Amino acid sequence: MTDKHLNRYSRQILFAGIGEKGQQKLLDSRAVIVGAGALGSFHAVALAQAGVGEIVIVDRDYVESSNLQRQWLFEESDAKQLLPKAVAARNRLANINSSISVKAVIADLSPENAEGLLLPSDVILDGCDNFETRYLINDVAIKNNIPWVYGAAVGSYGLTMPILPGTSACLACIFPQPPSGTQPTCDTSGIVNAASSAIASLQVADALKILVGCFESVEPRLLTLDVWSNSIRTVSVAQRDDVCPVCFSKNFKYLGRKNRPAATLCGRNAVQINYRGRPLDLSELRRSLEPLGEVRSNDYAVCFRCAPHEMTIFNDGRAIVKGTDDIALARSLYARYVGV
Ligand SMILES: [Zn+2]
Repeated sequence: MTDKHLNRYSRQILFAGIGEKGQQKLLDSRAVIVGAGALGSFHAVALAQAGVGEIVIVDRDYVESSNLQRQWLFEESDAKQLLPKAVAARNRLANINSSISVKAVIADLSPENAEGLLLPSDVILDGCDNFETRYLINDVAIKNNIPWVYGAAVGSYGLTMPILPGTSACLACIFPQPPSGTQPTCDTSGIVNAASSAIASLQVADALKILVGCFESVEPRLLTLDVWSNSIRTVSVAQRDDVCPVCFSKNFKYLGRKNRPAATLCGRNAVQINYRGRPLDLSELRRSLEPLGEVRSNDYAVCFRCAPHEMTIFNDGRAIVKGTDDIALARSLYARYVGV
């Protein structure tokens, strides 16, 4: 290790759990973060500071002013410029640690791209906002034997669990089915930034232990905390469910799902029009939309306001239509303004 590294990471090297050997492992590691919201932006900055050599950030969305209350790394100028979160995060991390490699991927994790984006990696951090994506991560992680760290937060509450394939319970062992009915989200129930940061911080602690190979310190537990009612609870997840279809039958149902619907709900009064596999010429699209309404754009996306809706179209053809959860309406707006 160079003197520069020894100095930069000296306080982490002094910590007995990591040491010079552990630091070298961090420098040689590759971590993938799925989602760069309240959790993922914290993961990104913490892993960059710790000197994880390669960080991949996968996110489908762009920075909005309502993100700035809780999402680390982002600034007002990012929201004004409509920057994709993955790109804004990469730009900021380049100033925080210029000696590591950070890759920004603007994409929605899907069965088609999941293995390509998540592999190879030494750990996967869950910063996403929906169960569908988490089960997909779980499938890829168990199939390819990659540890991952589940995390979620809403309101003042959050939960996290490390998953060591072949050793501890996986997501499907604990939650065989996605929760039924409408779940609270940050957009419906709000979020206290201390709750998401606390969960993200615990996820980072597990990721660091995994990356330095200190698996005996990774406690197989589901931890829940509430920063408002001051409760912390843990449940052991050391035992896998012996009828788990993922762990034991290797039935990777989420990864095997092809023929994704052309549009899916995207959490909060928004619909995502899924990847069409035909790259768009954004400057041409911008020119065609300008006579029809307010248009903003950058190298990555065009945002078109057709009140009361707002459509952001990325250069891979994917779009997010805000202001509705009517999938048919979103598809017809897309067909009308972008084409099919
Ligand atoms: Zn399992």
